[in-house]
Amino acid sequence: MSSQARGPDREQQPVAARPDAIRAHNLGLVLSEIHRSGALTRAELTARLGVSRSTIGALVADLAHLGLVFEHVPSGGERAGRPSHVVGPRPGGPYAVAVDLDINQITTAAVGIGGQVLARHVAPVDPHPGTPAAIARLIVDALPALRSAVGRDSRPVGVAVSVPGTVNRRDGFVEFAPNMGWRHVEFGSILGDALPANLRLTLANDANLAVLAEHIRGAARDTGDVIYLMGRIGVGAGLFAGGRAVRGFDGHAGEVGHTILNPAGPKCHCGRRGCVETYIGEKALMNLAGRRGEPTPKKVADIFAAANGGEDKAAAAVRVVAESLGRTVANLVNMLNPELVVLGGSLAGVFDFARADVERALSRHAVTRLHTELRVGQLGDDAPLLGAAELAFAPLLASPSGVMEAV
Ligand SMILES: [Zn+2]
Repeated sequence: MSSQARGPDREQQPVAARPDAIRAHNLGLVLSEIHRSGALTRAELTARLGVSRSTIGALVADLAHLGLVFEHVPSGGERAGRPSHVVGPRPGGPYAVAVDLDINQITTAAVGIGGQVLARHVAPVDPHPGTPAAIARLIVDALPALRSAVGRDSRPVGVAVSVPGTVNRRDGFVEFAPNMGWRHVEFGSILGDALPANLRLTLANDANLAVLAEHIRGAARDTGDVIYLMGRIGVGAGLFAGGRAVRGFDGHAGEVGHTILNPAGPKCHCGRRGCVETYIGEKALMNLAGRRGEPTPKKVADIFAAANGGEDKAAAAVRVVAESLGRTVANLVNMLNPELVVLGGSLAGVFDFARADVERALSRHAVTRLHTELRVGQLGDDAPLLGAAELAFAPLLASPSGVMEAV
C-alpha cells in the first residue's frame, strides 16, 4: 500500500525540490486529509498540516478548481467572529470503481472521495464458478449503471479489484484462488483488455484490502499492529505491523487459511488436509450445523439467526468453530503480538455469538496474550470493497493535479 495517505508512508516520500512539486505534494496532503476525515474547516487543515492559513486557502482553491472539493461557509453558527470555511468532497466529483469478487457474487461499486459508496451493482455468478472471462464481463457490464447512478459529469479515476486468493499486484496475475477454481490466471490482463483503455486497473487480495480499509476508516483506525482475519468460504488475513502493511516478498503474506491445524484433518480446496479454513471457514460451519449445499451469505446468516433463536445444533456448530477460531488467533498472537485482531465475514458472526468460547481458547493457547484485543470489523462485508477503493484512489491522493488532468 505504498501510496496510501496515512502514517509513515507519507513522511517517507522524498522531499520535493521544486516549488511546483511541493505544491503538487501539498495538494495531495490536503486531499488525503479530507478523504480520511470528511469535511474539515480551513482552520483544522491549517493545524493538521502545519502550514499557513494563506497556503491552505490557495491549496483549497486549486483543489476546488480541479473539481475535487467543495467549500462553503456554515450559516447559523452561534459563535461570534468570522466562521472558518468548511472544505469537503465535491458532490459529483470523481469516483473509484471498486470490485469485490466473491465466489457467489460480484459487487461493483462507485466510491466517492471520503469513502462513501455512491452506487452499487451486484451480479450473481451464474453458472458457478465463473470463468475469468465471464467474471470480467460482469464487471465491465456494471460500469454504465454506475456511471448513470453517479451522474454523467462524474469521472472514474481507476478500477481496483479485491480477489479471494493470492494475486500479484504488479500485473494482476492470480496465482491461486482455490475457491474460485483459479490457478495461474492472468486475470489482470483479461480484465484490463475488457475495460476502457484509459482506466487504470489494480488487483489485490481481499483480506489485505479489508485490513487497509479498517485501518484507514474502521475498527483499526490509529492502530499500527493489527491482524484482520476474514472468514468467507475461504479464510485469509491482512496484516499491519509497526504501522505498515505486511505483504511479504511476493505479496502473498497472510494465507492463514491454509496453515495446518491437523495434517489428518478434512480435505481442503487447496489439495492438502486440515487447513485452518476447513475448521473455521463457512463450509465447516455449514457442515457442523447440518446444512446442505454450498455456503451463501443467506445460508450462513440463517445459521447465526438459528443459533440466536435457540436451535441447539446451530448453536453447537458456532461454538465448535469458535474454539478453532480461538486457536487460530492464538497462533497469530504468538507469532505477531498484535494490538488488535479484527474479525470479519462469518468470523464476526462467530465472535458475536460465542465470544467467551473464542476468548477461552485464545487464552489457553496463546503463550502470552498481554494486551491483544479482539473486535468485530466496523465496515462489515464492505471492508474489501472499501479497501479496493483506497487502492484505486491512491494515485489521485498522491498527485491530484496529475491524475485529474489525465482524467
Ligand atoms: Zn488449504
